[in-house]
Amino acid sequence: MGSGRTISLEKDPWIPGLPTFKLQPGIRQQLWAFQWIMDDGCEWNLDIIRQSCTTAEVEAIRRIPIGNEDARDDWVWHFERSRIFTVKSAYHVFRESERNRLGTPNPNHPDCTSKAWKWLWSLSLPPKIISFIWRISRNAVATKRNLWSRRCSPSPMCPICDLGDEDVRHCLFQCPHAARVWQANHPSLTLPQDAWPVVMWLLDIHENSPASSIPAVVACLWAIWLARNERVFKGIMPRTAVTTVNAVRDFTFWRTPSQPPSTVDFQAQHRSNHTALSLPPSSSHWEIHCDGSFRSESQVVAYGVIIKNPHGQVVDGCAGTFFCSSAIVAEAKALLTAVRVAASLHYPVSIFSDCKVLIDILHDPRRVGPWQVRAWIQGIRSLLHLYPGLVIFFTPR
Ligand SMILES: [Zn+2]
Repeated sequence: MGSGRTISLEKDPWIPGLPTFKLQPGIRQQLWAFQWIMDDGCEWNLDIIRQSCTTAEVEAIRRIPIGNEDARDDWVWHFERSRIFTVKSAYHVFRESERNRLGTPNPNHPDCTSKAWKWLWSLSLPPKIISFIWRISRNAVATKRNLWSRRCSPSPMCPICDLGDEDVRHCLFQCPHAARVWQANHPSLTLPQDAWPVVMWLLDIHENSPASSIPAVVACLWAIWLARNERVFKGIMPRTAVTTVNAVRDFTFWRTPSQPPSTVDFQAQHRSNHTALSLPPSSSHWEIHCDGSFRSESQVVAYGVIIKNPHGQVVDGCAGTFFCSSAIVAEAKALLTAVRVAASLHYPVSIFSDCKVLIDILHDPRRVGPWQVRAWIQGIRSLLHLYPGLVIFFTPR
């Protein structure tokens, strides 16, 4: 499973742990698999799932790894060891159980992407900025509040003002630093007052305040987020004037008329400019070490990630457990988490994993990897493509 956006909960045979791969029909408010995923995109929302599923269904679903938000949902054939479709195995399945035979999976389900998401993906902004908007709109960023609720941070409080929990709204709009930046750059803009996803707020501005420039507003969000990361990872307190200037600089750069149409070229240009202006003079890299483990008796997977600054000091980390059925899933989850964290740092980062199999797969673009972790591998690859400053290294155990 990738993002789960094209998987129909009841019509598709999407659950490997069930005899028919399908859910029993039931009364469900949700239609698509992604609606059963928590807002952060990383875990199943078991509270919702339990409302309309049997215990066996719940257990089977919680074992399915969830892909990146932009990962494509893919179909695998369960009746061959290779997971590749063969006519012979299909005939066998057909004969074995005509009643339960699987229909040909249709990967072209109508996507229920709302107007706001379509609009977001159509914006001519750097891909990593669009990804950032997507993440903050789905509360899929590592705010202190989110980390704290998963027991990965000792406190939910804002690292800048210490006046309230650091959730997306506080971090980007309500924190005094953020509020001053908005006041300086967009004094007439009405900031979101409720829990609206940021993308809805942006679309509202686009449709109702034509005088406002979406790239300028987005640049402000981005600059506030980077300033917040400087505080968290380097201990540098943000200054309104610096953040304000950074926002204007990014915006000016994004709308440079000489911007080439090719996404790749544009990324490279953006990167070199951005890097030169925002990186510390030190060239040494940040490091992220990750590892995963799997207990076959309990079918529990554990993973952990630690972040070291260029001085070798551990500055942050996170860990988690979930149910699954193989060791490669544990390693892939650890690596995906490490790459996601590294992407949020916006510095060059060396990532270390002891899973040679996984690293070999990642280094060979022709390989898709084991089916259980295919969507995650795709997610890791797309992040590495977006953030060329991230490099994965093998480190022996
Ligand atoms: Zn604050």
